[in-house]
Amino acid sequence: MSEEKVIVANKGLIRADFAFWVGQYLDKFYNGLENKKIRGNKCPKCGDVFVPPRKICGKCNVVIPLEENWVDLPETGTIMNFTTTPYRVNDRSSRKTKDWTIGMIQIDGSNTSIIYRLLNMEPEDVKIGMKVKIEWNESTKGDPSDIKGFTKV
Ligand SMILES: [Zn+2]
Repeated sequence: MSEEKVIVANKGLIRADFAFWVGQYLDKFYNGLENKKIRGNKCPKCGDVFVPPRKICGKCNVVIPLEENWVDLPETGTIMNFTTTPYRVNDRSSRKTKDWTIGMIQIDGSNTSIIYRLLNMEPEDVKIGMKVKIEWNESTKGDPSDIKGFTKV
């Protein structure tokens, strides 16, 4: 015996806010961002500095103690690579609009890169190796959006 079923499909975007704990290391990093400070941590063996901080150095397989090896870093860095994209990584409501230029930026004194928007720069003006500095959002809340992007030094 078969039973008839009505299936309703509805396409659209649903906003869903989540709250989750990022862990002890990123928690310290985001506390720094909230105060407009960049904090990385340093491997006790090879001396590499990570932004954002890590628990384990992948090169040495050494645990970096949570309460030690923190390094305050400047707001300046170097463009290691860049691209343009119409997609908004952090904004799912307007996925495709005018192109943005995003860059991989190595904060001075660190050995890793973070990805952020390059502000007030045309793609043809951007060069690998160019020095940039952080533009903070006026109000911070302790998350990645505290950094609006990077501008030319
Ligand atoms: Zn290491």
